[in-house]
Amino acid sequence: MPVLSEVIAALDALWPPERAEQWDAVGTVCGDPDAPVGRVLFAVDPVQEVADEAVKLGADLLVTHHPLYLRGTTTVAASTFKGRVVHTLIKHDIALHVAHTNADRADPGVSDALAGALDLRVTGPLVPDPDDPAGRRGLGRICELDAPVTLGEFARHAAERLPATAQGVRVAGDPDRLVRTVAVCGGSGDSLFAEVRAAGVDAYVTADLRHHPASEAQQQSPLALVDAAHWATEWPWIEQAAAQLDEISDRHGWGLRTHISRTVTDPWTAHAASSTDTSSGAPN
Ligand SMILES: [Zn+2]
Repeated sequence: MPVLSEVIAALDALWPPERAEQWDAVGTVCGDPDAPVGRVLFAVDPVQEVADEAVKLGADLLVTHHPLYLRGTTTVAASTFKGRVVHTLIKHDIALHVAHTNADRADPGVSDALAGALDLRVTGPLVPDPDDPAGRRGLGRICELDAPVTLGEFARHAAERLPATAQGVRVAGDPDRLVRTVAVCGGSGDSLFAEVRAAGVDAYVTADLRHHPASEAQQQSPLALVDAAHWATEWPWIEQAAAQLDEISDRHGWGLRTHISRTVTDPWTAHAASSTDTSSGAPN
């Protein structure tokens, strides 16, 4: 059985921490480097439900995409919700390791997993990493469809293939327009509209699109927008990450058991559709 430091070294080779954004907080949050690791749980969010799931599973390591502490803290007291997560994990000898923007930029990265979930063929990164001579790493991905489909069909397909959330999938654009090329960015993607426009794609799949950036993008070009729940756009990465660790485990004869969390940790829990009569209830 490998020890934590060996597993972390393997994860750091997949997602080198130095490739994370400056503002990010990636790496090991808690854990003893010499502790043996037999079971690993992958999840998007290091929230209490996921920590409890790791305990129930008997996991030795929890790997999450989102950091627990993005900024410094002066307390991990269990009276704070993040401190309670730390206490739960340490009490049960579970390490926590985070791969965030270093996993976004990786090859394969978070957006490759999203493209794969949507059956899209990746042709390259949306924002290439200048330090990658192969031109495969970077933020977001530009993709092609095997055959053009309408925006309405594409959105239904996305809603079917991504894990179910209360939000589902929001669409901006004519449902009958054809989609042949798509940019994807797992997580919040409204800072990449300039790059999406420059790529000249028919549609953009991401999460957390706000009114003004989305409205302005629509005014500037006939770009279709497909907005899914943040958690749902990043969830495919945990499947990909677990498969990557399985492959490493097989190569080293580690015999690791990897698991993926299906707990929906998107904060939005319900969706009430508006009346189809849009003239009622509109603000004056
Ligand atoms: Zn995210």
